[in-house]
Amino acid sequence: MSSDSLDLLRNAIRDVPDFPKPGILFKDITPVLADAKLLNLAIEGMSEAFANQKVNKVVGIDARGFIFGAMIAQRLGAGFIPVRKKGKLPWKTRGVDYSLEYGTNSVEMHMDAISPGERVVLADDLLATGGTAAAAIQLIQESGAVILGSAFFIELSFLEGREKLADAGPIHSLLTF
Ligand code: AMP
Repeated sequence: MSSDSLDLLRNAIRDVPDFPKPGILFKDITPVLADAKLLNLAIEGMSEAFANQKVNKVVGIDARGFIFGAMIAQRLGAGFIPVRKKGKLPWKTRGVDYSLEYGTNSVEMHMDAISPGERVVLADDLLATGGTAAAAIQLIQESGAVILGSAFFIELSFLEGREKLADAGPIHSLLTF
């Protein structure tokens, strides 16, 4: 992806201070989603590394990961699998609890979503502390799939989230802050 394209994407991200709570600088990606050209560039850039890798499934994390993940899946000719917050999926699930800065969170995936041996990529909008992505990777690994790597639109590198994603293939982030 050209540096001009990456600059266009970077400049479209809106920084919202103190959302959803004081001290958080929220990266608002909705201006990228709203622009047909930027949306296409983002999906193209996030998919690039996994083209020709015979991807079977892309796993996207609730909720913005659904948008990126489903579009990447379509581009790669793969299926899409949602990882959701506890209690949202209708069928039999496997779940993982993980700790946040304050308290814990749980995510789930359908038991039959991924078959052993399938080639899987994880996608989300943003890698922060890595807790959510690490939980999703655990669900993928417990299903017996081959995790090829992860694709993030944004990585907040100062939070060192990628250190939680060891042994899960390469981590591709389109934009790093
Ligand atoms: P984490 O588990 O800390 O890596 O958090 C990842 C999730 O939280 C991502 O799916 C993001 O959607 C969201 N998130 C965390 N920090 C931010 C931020 N500064 N701006 C936007 N979204 C964020």
